[in-house]
Amino acid sequence: ETPVLEVHDLHVTFRTEGGLVPAVDGIDFAVAPGRTLAIVGESGSGKSVSSAAVMGLLPPNADVKGEVLLGGRELTKLTAEELRKIRGNEVALVFQDALSALNPYYSVGWQVAEAYRLHHDVSKKEANVRAVRMLDLVGIPSAAQRARAYPHEFSGGMRQRVVIAMALVNDPKVLIADEPTTALDVTVQAQIIRLLEDVQTEFGTALVLISHDLGVVAEVADDVLVMYAGRAAEQGSVKDIFYRAAHPYSLGLLGAMPRVDVPPKHRLTTIPGSPPSPGSIETGCPFQPRCAYTERVGERCITERPVLTPRPGEGNHEAACHLGRRPEIAQEVALTGIQ
Ligand code: SF4
Ligand code: MG
Repeated sequence: ETPVLEVHDLHVTFRTEGGLVPAVDGIDFAVAPGRTLAIVGESGSGKSVSSAAVMGLLPPNADVKGEVLLGGRELTKLTAEELRKIRGNEVALVFQDALSALNPYYSVGWQVAEAYRLHHDVSKKEANVRAVRMLDLVGIPSAAQRARAYPHEFSGGMRQRVVIAMALVNDPKVLIADEPTTALDVTVQAQIIRLLEDVQTEFGTALVLISHDLGVVAEVADDVLVMYAGRAAEQGSVKDIFYRAAHPYSLGLLGAMPRVDVPPKHRLTTIPGSPPSPGSIETGCPFQPRCAYTERVGERCITERPVLTPRPGEGNHEAACHLGRRPEIAQEVALTGIQ
């Protein structure tokens, strides 16, 4: 299916007093209606900055290069006013922190209704009917009554439902959910994920899920983009990433996830070290300082930047790692993960 959102060669650089700070260094992705793309990576990998760029929500000191096409329209060329008409209407965002997304001084029903009136010329009464319907749809019990309650009167999970209702009230083509369940306990997380899947089925929304929770990603995503230091380390279908991961970083992330098929001694809780800031490693592979396989591959990891290269015979699966040319080591990586 034709993607509703396409991002081509996106670069984001922040102008700071200390100089230029790159945050996203050339990524591509696309998502079709009704499909889910998960963007995963540690904090600082550029995943949130990428979504903020799509929403036109970056601060004024951010330089954005590349193309962001929403339904064929190039968003990076729009004026602030044009973007405001699209944001919350054609593309909407759900943050991790529901509390900060809601105004404590207004009832939740009022807030959902206002989000609708911002983009539709309707009476308050009509907007209110719409708001109650959305609150009901996202599973707020007795929605007509609860619409009059204030954010602090809701549990964390119920508040996140309200935020999702507000994001969906204008029937956006694309929903970007940035760590939507991170602040919630595990049972509630599962409910919110199920809700996102249900609304996606109902409305055919394209979902971009930004997450570090691979359990959630495995459950929800169709496609996965693994980001490291502002670049794509690996991308492919959810099966490519979970069963045929080719990049040591992806394998490291997978090692952080409890798996029944990997013996305990091969499991990791974290990958040792921390990611470099994007652009700070100018030559070679940005993962090199943390990679257990760099010595096996040799000099190239230090001298030559690996570019995304298609994996043979595996659809759109691509990885940016020199191991790709050393299949016997790649096979071993796949069996053991990072140690
Ligand atoms: Fe590791 Fe080299 Fe692959 Fe980078 S290119 S992930 S350093 S093996
Ligand atoms: Mg983030």
